[in-house]
Amino acid sequence: MKEFLELRINYNYAHLLFKEDEGVNLGSPLFGYSVKVVKIDTSSPIFEEIRRVNEYVRNKYDTFFFAGWNYIRQYTETELADAKLFKIAIKKHFEPVGEDCGTEYDESCACKICGSGRKQTSPLRLRKGRFLNKRDVAMTLGGEIVVSKKFVNVIVENGIKGMTFGPVFFGENRAEDCSQLMIEGQKLELAEQTQFGVNPYDFSEKSETEIFKCPQGDNLGLNILSEAYVKDCPPLHTSDFFISEQTVGLKTGYFRPEHLLFCSPCLYRVIKENHLKGFNFEVAHIVNQ
Ligand SMILES: [Zn+2]
Repeated sequence: MKEFLELRINYNYAHLLFKEDEGVNLGSPLFGYSVKVVKIDTSSPIFEEIRRVNEYVRNKYDTFFFAGWNYIRQYTETELADAKLFKIAIKKHFEPVGEDCGTEYDESCACKICGSGRKQTSPLRLRKGRFLNKRDVAMTLGGEIVVSKKFVNVIVENGIKGMTFGPVFFGENRAEDCSQLMIEGQKLELAEQTQFGVNPYDFSEKSETEIFKCPQGDNLGLNILSEAYVKDCPPLHTSDFFISEQTVGLKTGYFRPEHLLFCSPCLYRVIKENHLKGFNFEVAHIVNQ
């Protein structure tokens, strides 16, 4: 596996570490650039140099050296063929969320500290729109997942185990071309090898105003930083779709802590072979403990 980190560097301080023609400068050449996007190999020395410059810029200028970040993990064909489990990420996010369109939730069962664990108590209601737009999956900012009719057909035809679907309503009308992928089914416990934090250089478990790692143990942090590690359990060998027992994220606005999604090698192959669009995969690791 080769791991890269894509960073959105604050252009005002990018010269401290990067050449003018390195990466991609965003903004206007006439009125000034604002962001430099760079992609670095996390095993190269520059990964630690960014930590040093990040602290320097914070201490000297009281501002940030980078804002957005994203890990990109690339696998060989052999690594993909040998994988026993995959973590699924959904590329497209959209608004408005279900809550704004009449979807009901019971918040009384959610954790009072982190907000993890609310229950959806009505069918998913959304505003009609082009959120799928040739994709087979998309997710609202509130974590509700919508899949295409093609996706549901492929899952059923291939006898995939562990996925359940619910209806989607636009107003009073049930959508014919999409369904909700329910966040339910076999749960996997995330193992302690999985790393969480605010960003690749900040492993804080809380800030002055927010708690990222819930003392109740249900929410593990603001973001997942490493590949995922899960504890071995019998359902891993009998089902195809799983959600993490614990959540990741923060309750703020529409956002809620979210469960990580996993799939078996069989489901991974079915999605690939049927060219279902909108998914990203990473290899996940099963540990005995
Ligand atoms: Zn909690």
